[in-house]
Amino acid sequence: MPYAFPVLTMVDGPEGGMEYPMFIMSSVGASDHETGHQWWPMMVGTNETWYGFMDEGFNQYMNSLSGFDSRKQPANLDGPGQFYGRTSGNEQEAPLMWDANYGGPMYSFQAYSKAPMMLSMLGGVVGDTAVWKAMSDYAKTWRFRHPSPWDYAFFMSNALKDKQKDLGWFWYYWLFTTESVDGSVSGVTTAGGKTTVTVRQDGQMPAPVVLKVQFEPKGRPIRPMPNSKMIDSATAIVTWPVDVWFSGSKTFKAELNFGPRKIVRVKLDPGCRFPDRDTADNAWPRDTVVPAPAAGRAGGGGGGRGGNACAP
Ligand SMILES: [Zn+2]
Repeated sequence: MPYAFPVLTMVDGPEGGMEYPMFIMSSVGASDHETGHQWWPMMVGTNETWYGFMDEGFNQYMNSLSGFDSRKQPANLDGPGQFYGRTSGNEQEAPLMWDANYGGPMYSFQAYSKAPMMLSMLGGVVGDTAVWKAMSDYAKTWRFRHPSPWDYAFFMSNALKDKQKDLGWFWYYWLFTTESVDGSVSGVTTAGGKTTVTVRQDGQMPAPVVLKVQFEPKGRPIRPMPNSKMIDSATAIVTWPVDVWFSGSKTFKAELNFGPRKIVRVKLDPGCRFPDRDTADNAWPRDTVVPAPAAGRAGGGGGGRGGNACAP
């Protein structure tokens, strides 16, 4: 959404970073963050102290995109969604719908850090470009108005309904709870040319089942499945919608029917988009070296600038 005002003045002044309409202070490299506030809340007038995630959080998401852009890299949002799984369960965390004025010791996580993780997962469900288009349309629709979180969630659900029929579950878990997913690959069996991957879901939050399937480099031809995408000659990404969990079952048997080429590795959530409590059990066979956890970014201000860890 274009900048609405005639000029923007940035003062390299004695202030870490603070935003005002048409005017920002920044002495510590927070200028893109403070500039982002010209959109949230100067143009999209959210209640920034109650619902910090719609202000600082959306701003941090935009800063992540501008960070990649300034480094002339394509945006890579793999990582932040999965990272939330390591925070979920901390009893000091207030849900996003809790008044951020009473956010407590994890205020900056609640206001700044969690929304970019939520939007990383949303990109994992509907695709990042669809999220960007919907966020842009949300900003234009609510320009110089005062959207509530309900207005935001309803707008996004409507804008994305062609990609995901129902996002009610998504908003419920991300906005109203501090729950996460806890997916794992609990078994892989092959019989009669078909491979069955048993995926377990022990978390409260559901997520699409996305498997990266690696085949032996050479052998009989691979017959792609309708819900698969080949990313190289011996690797496929296979996706089942989140709906597979809606019956309440804790296990889902993912049938792989690619023909007789041997499968050598299966990885759940290879894009690191879904907030997983424990990622060590996502691969078959199990990884011998578990990737080190990404550096935490629970603090506020200036973060969200990429470097997202994801070991696919
Ligand atoms: Zn800010």
